[in-house]
Amino acid sequence: MPEPQAAAVVILLGPPGAGKGTQARMLEADFGLVQLSTGDLLRAAVAAGSEAGRAAKAVMAAGQLVSDEIVLAILRERMAAPDTARGVILDGFPRTDAQARALDGLLAEQGQKVTAVVSLEVDDAAMVGRISGRHTCAACGEGYHDQFKLPAQAGVCDKCGGTTFTRRADDNADTVLARLQAYHAQTAPLIAYYEGRGVLHRIDAMGAIADIRSTLAALAGGVLA
Ligand code: AMP
Repeated sequence: MPEPQAAAVVILLGPPGAGKGTQARMLEADFGLVQLSTGDLLRAAVAAGSEAGRAAKAVMAAGQLVSDEIVLAILRERMAAPDTARGVILDGFPRTDAQARALDGLLAEQGQKVTAVVSLEVDDAAMVGRISGRHTCAACGEGYHDQFKLPAQAGVCDKCGGTTFTRRADDNADTVLARLQAYHAQTAPLIAYYEGRGVLHRIDAMGAIADIRSTLAALAGGVLA
């Protein structure tokens, strides 16, 4: 009998503003994988007022990293949901060495491993501008940007017609600098970790969203084939 095909696990690495969420949603649409953003899961926990959310709230507002313990618990729970069976795109996880090792352990328990890690390479200087313009449709979560991605009709979501948009509380200049620092201190070393395992791919993510999407789709098509 043929071996069951292991689910794909694709990790998007990159600083805040690199486009991980935007590209993860596109990969989701193109390849039928499920985007799994620990930032989204934590924001949902904060909104729900759960114990994890109450612990994470101030840490997120300061642009620091939430404890590995909390993040791993919410990730583990999400990965157990049946919709992740075909594979996941991890957006914003892992962010520390301990998280990367815990992910390896979690996948090994299921006979899986990381399929590919894509490092979205960008200049820090451009990130503050990219982040400051971000907003999201309150109804469907589609992401927009004041400069780089406006809806076709001003004030109306292309995807669902919604007319209310929200901006993240941590998308302000002060917090962004703290988030960039956290990225360089704790997350960037993971590039070498995955390079050493032969699963790392670097792509230039300073260009237009559509160009990055085609580069990423070609890469993913090769890796997931
Ligand atoms: P993001 O939506 O990925 O930009 O994440 C927003 C915030 O959530 C981060 O600044 C952290 O405070 C927290 N966060 C998200 N993912 C993680 C993670 N893997 N480890 C620790 N904190 C995280």
